Amino acid sequence: MPTSPSSSGIDWPRVHAEALAVLQRYLRIDTSNPPGHETPAAHFLGDLLAAEGIACEYIEEMPGRAMLIARLPGDGSRRPLMLANHTDVVPVEAEYWDVPPFSGLIRDGRVYGRGAVDMKSAGVMQLFAMLLLHRLGLPLRRDLIFVAVPDEEGGGEGGMGWLARNRPELFDVECCINEGGTGMADFGGRPARLFEVAITEKEMSPLQLIAVGTPGHASKPAADNSAVRLIAALARLARWDRGLTLTPITRAYLEGLHAAGLIGDLDDRAALDAAIHASPDSVATFSNTLNITMIDVGMKFNVVPARSTATIDCRLVPGQDRHAWLREVEAVIDDPLVSVEFILPDAEAPAVSPEDTELFRVIRDVCTEAFEDAAVVASTSIVGTDNRFTRLLGVPSYGFIPALLSQSERDGFHGHNEFITVDNLNMGLELMYEVVRRMVT
Ligand SMILES: [Zn+2]
Repeated sequence: MPTSPSSSGIDWPRVHAEALAVLQRYLRIDTSNPPGHETPAAHFLGDLLAAEGIACEYIEEMPGRAMLIARLPGDGSRRPLMLANHTDVVPVEAEYWDVPPFSGLIRDGRVYGRGAVDMKSAGVMQLFAMLLLHRLGLPLRRDLIFVAVPDEEGGGEGGMGWLARNRPELFDVECCINEGGTGMADFGGRPARLFEVAITEKEMSPLQLIAVGTPGHASKPAADNSAVRLIAALARLARWDRGLTLTPITRAYLEGLHAAGLIGDLDDRAALDAAIHASPDSVATFSNTLNITMIDVGMKFNVVPARSTATIDCRLVPGQDRHAWLREVEAVIDDPLVSVEFILPDAEAPAVSPEDTELFRVIRDVCTEAFEDAAVVASTSIVGTDNRFTRLLGVPSYGFIPALLSQSERDGFHGHNEFITVDNLNMGLELMYEVVRRMVT
């Protein structure tokens, strides 16, 4: 990657080595959530900042689950830029890993560990953007705020959600960078340099199915077994071809991909379908997903269950009426003895951040200057992130991890053998620094 002239003054090979060592140490702090226990991680990051004279504040609302807020002051002529990340990680099933998951082991140019992509490496990229600006002593036109929060993997209410409710003054910022979109080294099964910048995210709407029937002794034929009804309903949902949902946002994303030459003619529906179906992530971007995740049936082998329930993870493409969606689900099940309910109460739908902001333009400029064939496209995050809290406060919030992750790196999100290549870490450090430098100096 060509290092831009404005990065002169930074000894990048040395910074790369320093950041890699920091990431290794960070990965060794086990912040599996539950229970989280993120305080050591918050202090690990904060100590690195404080050692160079950057002011840090810790908030420990929940014991053992501290959040860190650090601020590099600017001259106040522009509103602050916030860099936000989460310190917790999802639990591991260590027996499926080829390396110890909290080792930070480096092998074949990859650094392994739970959090290597989600999102401790991105936290390190943000951390070094702040450290490097401070070391260079450049005058800043706006404050730079670094926020590392716990509990994102538990829904965020104890982390960013708490801050959003209790520290509104913190969010008097111009914009925010967090996770949710990443660079990708491929698209549609072909090599690419695609930097997705998430401007919104799918709406989590998990469902519960409740089937009722006639209970009785399991020694006799049971014409009306609730378990059979439930399974028939689940099978209908699993076979349901829901097609692609095109909204103004998903259409704009397609147009971005087309402009970058990553997909062909948008009117060629067959080719479009094939390109989207090359990756489950793309399918998820364009469709309301339903995944059966839990089934609860019966209490004893010889009792026909009167009530059987299932839980379905369901995520909607933003901009839809979720009650209309519920009626569609009911119509597909088509059984009056199977009811469908939302598990979560109605809440504000995910907000959408604008594309016509200085930060979005800077991200586009930095990526396309680094790689002339880079495509920078506004996207929808298929997973929930802390951005939903900041977006609902009106802060333009972008999911942006500036590294070109391969499919196997992307599989590390909540998967086994999570890793990031050292090359991607280095790229992320340089691009994140450059984006932040242009925004704050
Ligand atoms: Zn994450």
